[in-house]
Amino acid sequence: MSKLSFNIDDVISGKARLTDAQALELHSNASLHDLGQWAHAVTLRLHPEDYRTYVIDRNINYTNVCTAKCTFCAFRRDHEDSDAYTLTYDTIGEKIKELVAIGGTQILMQGGMNDRLPIEWYEDLLRYIKSTFPTVHIHAFSPPEFVEFERFFNMDVRDIIRRLHKAGLDTIPGGGGEIFAPRVRKRIGIGKASGDDWLRVMRVAHEEGLNTSATMLIGHIEFVRERIEHMAAIRDMQDYARALSGHGELSGVVRRCISRWPGIFERSAFKPAEVASAPGSYTAFIHWPFQRENTPLGRAKEWDPDTYGPFDDSTNEDILRGRVVRMAGADEYLRMLAIARLYFDNVPSLQSSWVTMGPKVGQLAMMFGANDMGSIMMEENVVSAAGTTYSLAERDICRLIRDAGWVPSQRDQYYNILKRHDGADAPDLQPLAQPPMRNVKQIDKQFIGAAPGIDDGADSSVRVQLPLLGDAR
Ligand code: SF4
Repeated sequence: MSKLSFNIDDVISGKARLTDAQALELHSNASLHDLGQWAHAVTLRLHPEDYRTYVIDRNINYTNVCTAKCTFCAFRRDHEDSDAYTLTYDTIGEKIKELVAIGGTQILMQGGMNDRLPIEWYEDLLRYIKSTFPTVHIHAFSPPEFVEFERFFNMDVRDIIRRLHKAGLDTIPGGGGEIFAPRVRKRIGIGKASGDDWLRVMRVAHEEGLNTSATMLIGHIEFVRERIEHMAAIRDMQDYARALSGHGELSGVVRRCISRWPGIFERSAFKPAEVASAPGSYTAFIHWPFQRENTPLGRAKEWDPDTYGPFDDSTNEDILRGRVVRMAGADEYLRMLAIARLYFDNVPSLQSSWVTMGPKVGQLAMMFGANDMGSIMMEENVVSAAGTTYSLAERDICRLIRDAGWVPSQRDQYYNILKRHDGADAPDLQPLAQPPMRNVKQIDKQFIGAAPGIDDGADSSVRVQLPLLGDAR
């Protein structure tokens, strides 16, 4: 058992809140297995249900033209690039039609930040989608887009959110969170919203009654303490969002948040009288590791302790200036997931990042704090442009959930259960019309003996059916 300076049982039972220092201690001193066990105990307390969830959505990147230059991005283009695009409403409509045809319920719509699109383009798009597909949930426009909208439209984000909400925007995804620390952000997110501005947009969204999610990108030039600081800002601002809804004493929470994170309150003034009757909050936290292929940041050298010394050495110029990257693998991903589950006592859902981690680590994530498999994406362009990602069908997600011991269940954006797959008609229990086949050159008779009916003694290839899960793109 890992030795800790505090009583982890109080955190697991919900009696005590994990401090920032304790979260750092967990990262340094706790074994992966202990972390998994503790985080899973918290997940079972918060989500005692016999099911685990997923949502079917489509990622629509309406434009790849972007004014920012994130060094981890392989997706962005300039206006003059030959493959720069902005989708027409008709093309977006066709994509949504395909989504609805397979039982999908929401779109995740994000772009680059395109300075040639006026606010009316967005309003008309949202109205078009809502009038053509009234049941489709629109989860769209991450905080960095809103911050650029402020500049493009010369308006405060509150007025922009009000107009887009009125036109049909339902919720806001937490894209572009990366790591809030200015040291990191100014090196990996050139031209992108500051951490304060990212959090300010979400504060205003919550005040205006929209739910959002929160994200974190790990495994590049960040220190572990900067990850914890990132999570601290989200947890504090979630306290704020919940206090707006009557959980806790608002003035005390506001004072604490303003004193700890003053930049979040510097603009878009908070007016208690104008807060929506049903304020929003962060519904989920999702983190994933940086994918290096095809990105400027990916060309940085990999950190080697023999050459560069300890990564958390704040005096090392190579590390401080982001000349080396410390990539995150499965151990680091699961470690941070477990710490996040122990740390976030006020964010209900943690999602598995199987798109970047693959199906098996994605499945294991359900034992390390995740209660949701996130979305079955019909389309994904941004992460897949930067390296290996995975694509899974609904039956594969259902099977991963069922094999881990839960009933797979399709949800909506508000975590309402739409379909509980506990019957024989579950997607993962249907025979495949065309089972995937792989050629096996020779079955090793030493281990399995002669294959009845097909083994004539010849050294010929034999076709056998193998389960395929999450073929890498
Ligand atoms: S990650 Fe997003 S904001 Fe950054 S350059 Fe790429 S498209 Fe633009």
